[in-house]
Amino acid sequence: MKYALVTGGSRGIGRAVCIKLAGMGYHVLVNFKGNITEAEKTLSAINERGGEGSLLQFDVSNRQQVQEVLGGWLENNADKFIEVLVNNAGIKDDVLLMWMKDEQWDNVINTSLNGFYIVTKLVLQNMLMQKYGRIINIVSLSGLKGLPGQTNYAAAKGGVIAATKALAQEVGRRNITVNAIAPGFIKTDMTEGLDEKQLRSLIPVSRFGEPEEVAHAVGFFASAESAYITGEVLSVNGGMYS
Ligand code: NDP
Repeated sequence: MKYALVTGGSRGIGRAVCIKLAGMGYHVLVNFKGNITEAEKTLSAINERGGEGSLLQFDVSNRQQVQEVLGGWLENNADKFIEVLVNNAGIKDDVLLMWMKDEQWDNVINTSLNGFYIVTKLVLQNMLMQKYGRIINIVSLSGLKGLPGQTNYAAAKGGVIAATKALAQEVGRRNITVNAIAPGFIKTDMTEGLDEKQLRSLIPVSRFGEPEEVAHAVGFFASAESAYITGEVLSVNGGMYS
């Protein structure tokens, strides 16, 4: 069986990605930070559709935890190969820079940017040995154009975009592709407080996107046929200029 790891798979975009990859025949390792109830719902959704998955709880920004839990899984499952990694875990904590607290900067950078580094470094080893892999990073419109109140989030996502392009060049010869997806406004817990009616005038398609619409793009990059596409950033934002 083929294996895929989705960070932040308990809710929102991550859940839709887990369901998509399970539908493509992957045993999906559903990572989450703390919300076990929601993580179990993702697993049930996978199982109800005839797919396979397991839960893997760790904080992507915590080196020790990632090493213990993910590193432990890799050690105990040396015969299994994670060929798709989706770095999706992310948080936002919006505030103007002049009011930003150090921990607001640190938490957002640690989750998206350091989380990408910590998890990818571990999973990449086997991809290099197997000479195959698909790494897909969920970034954001904010990481492409910047949005006021999001200097921390834009820096984290912009950093992952640059890392996507650099890593793609490092590992291309090993048949490993590294791509990013930049969603706009997607209906999840993260955008719950936003007023869709007010914001939709900014979106040519005139609505927020569904998590499944991002998952569709993940499925595209994850497929074996996408072997000649790497270092790309695909916007999934209803036509907003980016
Ligand atoms: P949600 O807030 O709905 O879900 C966040 C997910 O990330 C949860 O599964 C959560 O786990 C997990 N998570 C958070 N911190 C960590 C951590 N330190 N370690 C492991 N898992 C963690 O977010 P969305 O689905 O909206 O967003 C998913 C990704 O898409 C994020 O990277 C986000 O920045 C990006 N994005 C979202 C947009 C949107 O409009 N929604 C737009 C652009 C980008 P738990 O349930 O345990 O807390």
